[in-house]
Amino acid sequence: MTIRVRFAPSPTGFVHIGGLRTALYNYLFARKNGGKYILRIEDTDRERYVEGAIEEMLRSMAWSGINHDEGVVLDGERLVQKGDFGPYIQSQRLDIYQKHIKTLLESGDAYYCFCSKERLEDIREKQKSEGLTARYDGHCRNLPKEEVQEKLESGEQHVIRLKFPKSRDIEFNDIIRGRVVMNTDDLDDQVLIKSDGFPTYHFAVVVDDHLMKITHIIRGEEWLSSTPKHVYLYEAFGWEMPKYAHLPNILSQDRKKLSKRHGDVAVEDFLNKGYLPEGLVNYIALVGWSPEDDQEIFSMDELEQKFSLERVSKSGGVFDVNKLNWINGHYIRESSVERITDLAIPYLIEAGYITEIDAKEKYEWLKDLVSVLQDRISYVAEIKEKAVIFFKTEIELKDDESKELIKSDHVPQLLDAFKTKVEGAETVDEDFGKKVFKEIQKETGIKGPNLYKPIRVVLTGETQGPDLPLVIKILGRQNILNRIQYIKQSLNNS
Ligand code: GLU
Repeated sequence: MTIRVRFAPSPTGFVHIGGLRTALYNYLFARKNGGKYILRIEDTDRERYVEGAIEEMLRSMAWSGINHDEGVVLDGERLVQKGDFGPYIQSQRLDIYQKHIKTLLESGDAYYCFCSKERLEDIREKQKSEGLTARYDGHCRNLPKEEVQEKLESGEQHVIRLKFPKSRDIEFNDIIRGRVVMNTDDLDDQVLIKSDGFPTYHFAVVVDDHLMKITHIIRGEEWLSSTPKHVYLYEAFGWEMPKYAHLPNILSQDRKKLSKRHGDVAVEDFLNKGYLPEGLVNYIALVGWSPEDDQEIFSMDELEQKFSLERVSKSGGVFDVNKLNWINGHYIRESSVERITDLAIPYLIEAGYITEIDAKEKYEWLKDLVSVLQDRISYVAEIKEKAVIFFKTEIELKDDESKELIKSDHVPQLLDAFKTKVEGAETVDEDFGKKVFKEIQKETGIKGPNLYKPIRVVLTGETQGPDLPLVIKILGRQNILNRIQYIKQSLNNS
C-alpha cells in the first residue's frame, strides 16, 4: 500500500501558520514513509470564496519549501494540475458528487429535505428557548416517495441530508487521540448537498479522500467532532476508512486558539517581515511535535527522517515568537551575506535609506553593511531599525551609559584627535579603522574603553555593537566627520 496524504485548504485569502504546520506534517509523513503528498483545493463554500486566494496560497506554500507531489500547482501565474486523481479543485468535481449522492439516496442513507430557512430558524429558536441543543428535527426524514417526487418536479428548493441511524455509537481510532466514540443521537442529519447544488465540506471531503486513495487524514483538531459523520459516510458507501490523526491547536500565550487578533498568524505576515522559510518551517515543526532528544535546529532533510505522528502531543502547543526569532536568527547568521543583502534591500528602500539605483551601484557597500548587522537581527525587516546608524547623522544616544560617557572631560580632545586622523587619512577603510586607535593612544595617552567607547557612541549611539573598524569603513570619511560635528554641536548646546 502506498501512503497517500493530503493538505486540503479552503482558499480564504491567507495561510494560517496552523495550516502551514498541517501541510508540513502531511509532507513529512509522506516523505518518511515513501508516500505521496497531495494538495487539494476545497472551494465548495462559495460565500467564502476570495478571488486570487488559491494563487496566493500556492505562492506561500512554494516559498515554504513544502512541495506537493500531486494537485494544484502554479506554473508562472497559471494554475495547473498534476497527478492522476484530478481534478484537484472541488468546484470542478460537481458531477462526481452528484453521482455519489445518488448512490446514498438510493440506499436510503440520504434524503431530500425541503424545509425552508424560516422553518429551520423557528425550530432552532424553540429548541434554544427550551434549553435544548439546536438541531434538525428530522421533519423530512420519512417523506413519502410520491411527495418527494412532486416537490422535486415542481422545482421546490431543497438540500440533501445524511440519514443517521438512531442511537448508534460511531467510533474510530485516532493516531494521536486514541479511541473516539460519538452517538448518532448527538449528531445532526448533516446537509450533504446544499440548495445551490454544491456539496458541503463533509460530503466532498469523504468522496474525494476515497477517490484520491488517501490513506491517512492528518488535519487540525477542529475537525475531530465532524469525523464521526465522515466515518459513517465511509460505512454507508461500503468504503475502507482511512486512518485519522487530529493535530492539536496552536495556541497563543493566553492559551486561546491563535488567531489574527493575536498579531501575525499568516504565513504571508512572516514572509513580509523577512523570516526565512527554513526558520519558520523549523520552528513550526516543533509546535506540537517533540523530537526524541532536545535538538532544536532541524533542516528539512532531518525533519523528514525524524518526524513521527506518535510524537505529536494531544494538547495544544503555544506559539512562542521569541523561540521563532531565535531559530530564525540562527538561519540568518548561517545564510550567505548576498542572500540577506538581497532580502534586505527592499526594506532599506522602504525606509528611505537607499534608492533602487543605490541598490545596484552600492551593492558591495550594502553587503558590508549587512555583514555587520547580520548576526544582530532575528528577521530581515529588523534591518530597518538597526541600519539607521549608517544613514542618519543625528545619532540618538541609546542608553544612559552613552549619555554619561560622551560628557567625560577627555572626550573633546579625543574627538579632535580622531577628526584629525580621519581628515588626514588617505583612505578611511577597515585598515585605517584598525590602526587609528593605537595611533590616537600613542599621541594622547587616552586608552582602553576611554578611547574606543566614546568613538563608538559618536558613530553608533551605543557603547556596544558591531565591529568598529567595519563600522568606520561603512560610514566613510564624510559620514564620520558629520557625526563628530553633530556630537560636538550637541555637547556645546547642552
Ligand atoms: N478544507 C478544510 C480546511 O480548510 C480541510 C479539512 C480537512 O483536512 O479535512 O481546513
